[in-house]
Amino acid sequence: ETVFTARALTKTYTSGETQVLALRNLDLEISAGEMVVLLGPSGSGKSTLLNIMGGLDHATSGQLFFRDQELTNLDDRGLTAYRRQHVGFVFQFYNLIPSLTAYENVALVTEISDHPMRPEEALALVGLEPRMHHFPAQLSGGEQQRVAIARAIAKRPDVLLCDEPTGALDSKTGIRVIEALLSINAQLGTTTLIITHNASIQDVADRVLFFADGQISRIHKSEVRRTAA
Ligand code: ADP
Ligand code: ADP
Repeated sequence: ETVFTARALTKTYTSGETQVLALRNLDLEISAGEMVVLLGPSGSGKSTLLNIMGGLDHATSGQLFFRDQELTNLDDRGLTAYRRQHVGFVFQFYNLIPSLTAYENVALVTEISDHPMRPEEALALVGLEPRMHHFPAQLSGGEQQRVAIARAIAKRPDVLLCDEPTGALDSKTGIRVIEALLSINAQLGTTTLIITHNASIQDVADRVLFFADGQISRIHKSEVRRTAA
């Protein structure tokens, strides 16, 4: 099953007289359950693509489908409904509410979802059940990011979009976060797209997409993981 289909997807940012072509006629298909890494220099369009796939921003031209639904036809309201139902986000910064425990931070999301996990279930998936009554300040950066991941998956999204999830972490802590993402992908089958510079995840992804200047310049496919799966 194909989850995302992009056809000649293009994004231009305009500020005053200046125009920036952030995505140029991008064609791409993402299959259900895939773990895909987006690599490339700063400014090559990775975040722009993730934001459009997540319904946080509109494309300028071209088409993007989520399954059979054309996202590029939706207005803000339609995109919000799509996002709430189907998409989980993980960003570089965790955005946890400091006055709430890990459990309560996750529970905030599960209260407004249709078929959520129990917060302890989501936290167990990232290995944090033993610390679920800690406050963010009592957790390390990597643990806080794992709470943010638990929060993102608790509503059982179809896709998990991660923009530099280990960007604020040292490499050893970052690996634990990546292991949590891999484990979720394996156990729940959540289609996962990750922008990262972390070399260890490139080896375990199904595909690595190399971005250059608003286009995908090269794709590396992992045969190992596909045949192992
Ligand atoms: P990456 O994630 O690969 O670093 P981005 O998608 O963030 O790349 O950016 C692609 C291009 O679009 C860059 O030239 C960037 O400066 C520009 N850009 C991104 N967001 C905006 C914005 N909100 N307004 C104007 N230009 C933007
Ligand atoms: P909702 O589910 O209420 O519609 P959004 O879809 O707007 O929420 O956002 C999903 C999550 O991603 C929220 O936790 C929001 O705070 C966070 N978020 C959205 N955009 C950004 C961003 N650019 N940087 C950090 N967090 C963001």
